Amino acid sequence: MLGPMSQPLELTRSASATEPRERHAFAFVAERLWLDFVNSDRVARGDDALSDFDRFVRWLEAAHLLDEERAASMLRRSQQQPAGALAVLGDARRVRNVLRALAERGASSSTIRSDALAELNRVLGRSAGTRRVELQADGGFVRTFVPVGDAFAGILISVVESAADALILGELVRVRRCADPRCGRVFQDETKNGRRRWCDMATCGNRAKAARHRMKLHR
Ligand SMILES: [Zn+2]
Repeated sequence: MLGPMSQPLELTRSASATEPRERHAFAFVAERLWLDFVNSDRVARGDDALSDFDRFVRWLEAAHLLDEERAASMLRRSQQQPAGALAVLGDARRVRNVLRALAERGASSSTIRSDALAELNRVLGRSAGTRRVELQADGGFVRTFVPVGDAFAGILISVVESAADALILGELVRVRRCADPRCGRVFQDETKNGRRRWCDMATCGNRAKAARHRMKLHR
């Protein structure tokens, strides 16, 4: 039997639309996992997804990086080892700060890129485990990472691998910041013409449209 320590972490998100896990509390609008992680510093209504460990686990679950069982075992472990959980949280914040800098200025600054590289390799270098490809219930395949040792080991691997992919694939030039300066969310622009402006049409895009409309009425 697989213990909680050998439950796989998904490296790529499953596309299944029937996932029972709740995603609505957090925004996943960035097209890339690492950018969604960056955006977790200012999720809707001002709550930081890294404000406490429980919330971080909920974010990981919402991002489909932990299944329900593994999330529950993480939470149990965090109660047994509060200092360990706090350390994980602090580390996640540190990684997120570096990734925000990479998202916002990585395309134009080689210093930012090399700082990020050091950080990515720091996280990758200390995670022991094995990589696997697994068949899912819906017939799709997913890349997974099975950490060995500490239950918290590898918790950031998927996020960091996603950022590493952005460097490898030269994607930084397509990372944008939402055109609403109050928003601060970043995203990968995957439109053909490279002119996506808003993190999300339902929120920022819509607000801008309404504002333009009001301007027209008042002219
Ligand atoms: Zn926005």
